[in-house]
Amino acid sequence: ICLQLPPYFLLLQCDSKENFLFHRRSDVLMMTPWFAPIVWEGTYNSEILNEQFRRRNVTVGLTVFAIKKYTVFLNKFLETAETYFMVGHRVNYYIFTDRPEEVPKVPLKEGRNVVVLQVQNYPRWQEISMRRMELINSFSQQRFINEVSYLVCVDVDMRFNDQVGVEILSNLFGTLHPHFYAAERQSFTYERRPASQAYVPRDEGDFYYAGGFFGGTVMEVYKLTKKCHEAMMVDKAKGIEAIWQDESYLNKYFVYYKPTKILSPEYLWDDDLGRPEILKKIRFLALPKNHAAIRNK
Ligand code: UDP
Ligand code: MN
Repeated sequence: ICLQLPPYFLLLQCDSKENFLFHRRSDVLMMTPWFAPIVWEGTYNSEILNEQFRRRNVTVGLTVFAIKKYTVFLNKFLETAETYFMVGHRVNYYIFTDRPEEVPKVPLKEGRNVVVLQVQNYPRWQEISMRRMELINSFSQQRFINEVSYLVCVDVDMRFNDQVGVEILSNLFGTLHPHFYAAERQSFTYERRPASQAYVPRDEGDFYYAGGFFGGTVMEVYKLTKKCHEAMMVDKAKGIEAIWQDESYLNKYFVYYKPTKILSPEYLWDDDLGRPEILKKIRFLALPKNHAAIRNK
């Protein structure tokens, strides 16, 4: 009887894992109250999604900053991205660096390019991290808008460890911070000083998002980075820097411009937190680093 009903009915009626329409998990939140999907392994069908994005011949831009000593991370980052990032799709890697001669030559698959963008450095690591907003913003307008459909903006002190594909793409997406995905709102480390442009009141905010993985269409990333950079400049003029730099301004933005898709911590994990049962895949993993040694000249 069940088989004669239309497929969407199957989804409602048949509790069978063999049914390819069965992509559901009961142990995690799969959707926000504003109907944005939260991407966990087991909640989507990558065959269907790959076909949809291939048909559109989508090109994805991956922005990454390797300023000063952080160029040491590029080799592993690019090598693992070739194995796991947007496999089968067109990719431009945009590498912002002050040391173009230190960008390694990594063999690339067809349809994938490295673009080195030379930029200045800053003495403080906090400023290097925050200025990413300004640079992504200005290059979005000058260049990215003509070359790619989506931007994915990530930290470089990372390695890909499993598939990161088109399931992440949406108009505007953020990633649940691995320290806070299961935490209560009152423990979120939003900026709490009302004088800061990044201020989030105690009774607002949905999730705590990671600064190291966000993206969307070039237009949405342009708007996000513009707002965040402007907020930083207002604060800077008053001698204020938000508690977690760019991450704080990003979190403020997402309170009022809610993401249309949210990535689970599978997409930004740190093994200092162990490997809880809830994680079926660890796709993008923080590398251990000696902060004192690597952050200064
Ligand atoms: N970064 C850089 N050079 C620096 C400091 C930071 O290129 O000297 C960039 C790099 O892309 C890095 C990001 O800024 O991944 C954020 O800094 P970091 O990863 O040190 O912050 P954390 O993840 O430890 O909070
Ligand atoms: Mn990092």
